Formats: sequence, C-alpha cells, structure tokens
Amino acid sequence: MSIDDLRQSLIDTLDRLGVVDDPDIRQAFARVPRELFLPGVPAEVVFLNEAVPVKFGGARIMSSSSQPSMMAIMLGQLDVRPGHRVLEIGTGSGYNAALLDTLVGAEGRVVTIDIEPDLVAAAREHLARAGHRAVTVRCGDGALGYAEAAPYDRIIATAGVWDVYPALLDQLADGGRVLLPISVRGSQLSVAFERHGDHLRSVSVEQCGFMRLRGANAGPEHKIDIDPDRRVRLLVPDERPVDVGTVRRLLDAPPYDQPTGVSATLLDVHNGLDLWLSVHLANPVRLISAGSPEAVAAGPVPCMYEWKNPPWHERVTFAVTGGTDLAALARRPGEPLDLADPTVFELLVRAFGTPGAAHRHLLGAVHDWQAAGRPDVSGVSLRAYPAGERRRLAEGEFEVPKHHSVLALTWVPSAARSVAPAAPSGAGPG
Ligand code: SAH
Repeated sequence: MSIDDLRQSLIDTLDRLGVVDDPDIRQAFARVPRELFLPGVPAEVVFLNEAVPVKFGGARIMSSSSQPSMMAIMLGQLDVRPGHRVLEIGTGSGYNAALLDTLVGAEGRVVTIDIEPDLVAAAREHLARAGHRAVTVRCGDGALGYAEAAPYDRIIATAGVWDVYPALLDQLADGGRVLLPISVRGSQLSVAFERHGDHLRSVSVEQCGFMRLRGANAGPEHKIDIDPDRRVRLLVPDERPVDVGTVRRLLDAPPYDQPTGVSATLLDVHNGLDLWLSVHLANPVRLISAGSPEAVAAGPVPCMYEWKNPPWHERVTFAVTGGTDLAALARRPGEPLDLADPTVFELLVRAFGTPGAAHRHLLGAVHDWQAAGRPDVSGVSLRAYPAGERRRLAEGEFEVPKHHSVLALTWVPSAARSVAPAAPSGAGPG
C-alpha cells in the first residue's frame, strides 16, 4: 500500500470509531504526514491506530506519539479554531503540534514544550520538514507554561497531570479553554475546563491513559517496585502510605477469585467502573506487571487491561489495600483485550490471602456501581477550585484534594443529561 493509502486507512479507522465529528480535524489528519514525525518506524506501523514509542529510558517509555483516536477525541474536546493561540505541553514527536498548527491556520500560533532536550531538537526538525516552521518549540517544564507567548486561547497537556497548575491558569486568555489529562485518584480523565468566576468547570470529560508528567511539578503519584524479579509494581495515586512489605507478602499468598455476579464489557470497566472504584474506595492503587508474555502470565497480577507490544507485555488492574489484605479486580483468562470488543464477561474480585476488609469493600463497590445504574464518564462533571478555599460540598459531590487545587466531582444522573423528548402538543406541563 502507498503512504497515501495507509494514511487514508487511518482516517477510515477514525471514522469507523466515530471519533471525528469535526471536518477540520478530519482534514488535519488527512494532511499532516505522520511518517515525517516517526522516522525509522515502518509505514504499516505509523498508520495503525496505536501509540508509537519515540523515546526509551532503560525499560521505560519516556515519550510516545499518542494513539490517533485519543488525539482526535482530545482535539474535539479542545475546540481549536482558526486564529487561536495554543499552548501544548508534551511535544514528543511534534505530530500533535502539527495538527494544532493546521487547525489554527496562518493567523494562529502554536507553542509546544517538552522537558527532554533531544525530543525538542527532533520535533523542530520534524515540524520544519512537514512545513510547520511557525510552531515554537521550547524545552522546559510544561507545568510552568510559557509566559513569553501568553495569553493562550487553548492550552492542552498531552502528558498526564496531577494538579491544575496556577501558571497555566495565569496564561489562559479570558474565555479560554484548558484540556488536562488529570489523575482522579489514579483514574485518568481528559477534562476540558472553562473558567467560571473563581473556579473552572468541565465542559467535556473523557477517560484516557497518558504517561505522567515528569519533573519538579509531577506531583505525588508514584510507582513502587513491589517485586523486581516478577516486575510487579504498584501505582499509588497520592501521598497515602502503603505497607509495601504486607503487599509483597500477600502477593505470594494463594489467590482466590470470587465471582461478583456483575458482567460488563471492557469499555464499561474502562469508562465507568474504574473511576467509580477510584473515588469510592479508601485506598485505590493499580497493580502493574510488565515484562515478557511468559513472566506476565505466570505472575500474580490478574488481567484487566493488557497491552501487547512485543516483546513487552503489560497488565494493569485496579486494586485496593487494607490493613491486612489486598484485593484486585480480575476476570477469567482468554477474555477480550480490545476496548472495542463488545463481549460481556463476569467481573471477579481476587483476594490475596484470607479475604478481609479490602476484599469486602471492593466487592461492595462493584455491586454499588451496578445498583447505581453503572454510571460512566459521560455523566461526570468536574469543578476545580484553588486550594485553600473553603466551600461546602454539594450533595453527592466527591472532593479530590490536590496541592494547588481541589477537584469536586459529581455524576450527573442520566435522566438529567438526556434531552427530554418533545412533549406532544397539549400534553405535559405547560
Ligand atoms: N504530543 C506528543 C506526545 C506526547 S507524550 C506527540 O504528538 O507526539 C508525552 C510527552 O510529555 C513526552 O514527550 C515527555 O517527554 C513530555 N513531558 C513529560 N514531562 C514533561 C514536563 N514536565 N513538561 C513538558 N513535557 C513533559
């Protein structure tokens, strides 16, 4: 297949997934040559709907060109218009900056920042080769923004943030929009915020999974090596202490899988249960295992999400730690790994060692999610206040404290969201 055909096949995939409503975004994907941003990557891989790693640090991926469907969703959330001044945090390959540059047109302006000097140099070259010389590429900590070119009509982070950074708000123009993949107790949401008086309000929320921002403003979310031999790690979303010794010991205990009686697709878990558990349970963590397929399969981490990037496999599942026990979300082997697979499977709760409080809480929270009508991210509304401001929580609101901000999250009941069908004339309340 020619490059043009391959590029068209990517557009067809985006169309099939229904992630591009805006013809300008669709056209930007059709115009920008992704192959120039991923030199050395085989053309068949460049145009798959997959994230493509562009920098490694040991066994760790330091940068990747994001999955095109997620980029399309986020560009839609950002609502970029011709003439806009846009700041991007996380240049990576420069591909998204080129899409942004296409969307803002000759009257607009794009500034992009990355923390890695070699990526900045490479992105400058890629952008020049693709004809996007007007994009300003800077090296620095994106959490501080880039005041020299402020204000911005749109700010987008393409690395996961832990907080709403004050510098970004200072650099946001009146009426502007800021899009952040932000961690809500370990569950990552791509949130488009607009300013409303003293706070920000979400105008669009999607589930996402970006690599985290690094550097001095990365925040307290961290990974702990639990068992380096079996490559088991724990993602801890905040400062709360975790008893690593106990977790290590429990992972060696015989696992016991309890059926929950609740069935779901992988997308239901990804878009709904994940966030529900993150906000409702006291000590949410993620169990991660990465390595060869054999090592991952033989390890103690049950499969919820699994990514196969040969020769590397990675598994992640939601888990909760208690004083004396550990429980994780699990499913039976051989069930779908693809988020688009509509197969329904039964959720299990895996107890390590004797089931105790963590097991009970996780099981209870899965049942509560079912009883609440399986709410998902489409019903989520978020507000972000400056930290330290005293406010009363509204009924049903969850507070997620950060260092610079406090998030307030609510699920809008689906009845309030759906547009009520027009009442036949003469009927219903007048
Ligand atoms: N938009 C990119 C993909 C970004 S991947 C593309 O289209 O290819 C996330 C990027 O964030 C990585 O390149 C990483 O180096 C960068 N990053 C991590 N921490 C950062 C920080 N504090 N400031 C700016 N960039 C950062």
